[in-house]
Amino acid sequence: MQRDEETGPEPETGEDPREAPSGSGGRAAELAPGLWLVATPIGNLGDLSTRAVVTLRGADLVLCEDTRVTAPMLARFGISAPLAALHDHNEAQEVPRLLERLRGGARLALVSDAGTPLVSDPGYRLARAAMEAGIFVSAVPGPNAAVMALTLSGLPPQPFLFMGFLPPKAVARAEAISRLRAAEGAGLSATLIFFEAPHRLAECLAALAEGFGDRPAAVARELTKRFEEVRRASLPELAAHYATHAPRGEIVVVVGPAAADAPSGVEEVEARLRAALAAGESLRDAAAMVAAATGLPRRQVYARALELSRQDG
Ligand code: SAM
Repeated sequence: MQRDEETGPEPETGEDPREAPSGSGGRAAELAPGLWLVATPIGNLGDLSTRAVVTLRGADLVLCEDTRVTAPMLARFGISAPLAALHDHNEAQEVPRLLERLRGGARLALVSDAGTPLVSDPGYRLARAAMEAGIFVSAVPGPNAAVMALTLSGLPPQPFLFMGFLPPKAVARAEAISRLRAAEGAGLSATLIFFEAPHRLAECLAALAEGFGDRPAAVARELTKRFEEVRRASLPELAAHYATHAPRGEIVVVVGPAAADAPSGVEEVEARLRAALAAGESLRDAAAMVAAATGLPRRQVYARALELSRQDG
């Protein structure tokens, strides 16, 4: 077993054989058989925990998204466990074979390219299948871009709703935002977290500003890296900024919850319908527009529009 200065002294062995060794430099035999979900850095190698190093060192096989990303990281820590690729395109097909190895007592570690595996990354199918098969599954927690962005956003940390990536196409993205607005109309009040690619950030922020209006938000970029930046402003301000400043790097968008005094879903639908009707839209067109903006079923909005037009004469 190779040791380096960064891994520190030989640890005491935990009494529970299922516990991952708590220190660094543990022998392979100390790691319990089963599936270990191991978080890795999101940009700063210093964030790989000593427990992650010990677990990866003790694994019979490290499953990773891309061996070209994980191999250099393991080499940096003197870890020589064999690597195998597990990604969205082969996970379903690989699960039976990996379950066989786990049933045979193998110690498998699963990492993704960066951060916490399974979170917008591969591994859910394997973890779920292992749990269903009664195999020991545990995790070594660590970096996660969504939670780090949340903590730096200055927005209420709980409740939060992590949405992963919004759909890349404009129509599907607007529909996803409408569904969130509809959920808020039904009472959801949570800080929202989205992953986004740099080349889509400006259009994503414009769509969020369109859907959520003048809410406080934050854009967290290049977390834990040299050019880490968190910009806190309203959604329209952020949309305007990034429309003229093309960002680089990896990005998380955090959006504050609807204000406590925001109109309820019913009030909002009525206000939007009245505005559309006052602008001369037909009942049918007003209902279609409001249904699209709120994510509510068109038939339900049309029925409300009909009532309103009768009430208002
Ligand atoms: N599993 C990872 C985690 O726990 O953070 C997330 C993987 S997801 C495929 C990759 C996305 O996470 C990026 O497109 C970006 O939105 C976000 N991300 C990852 N690293 C980041 C960083 N250092 N700074 C900001 N966002 C990051």
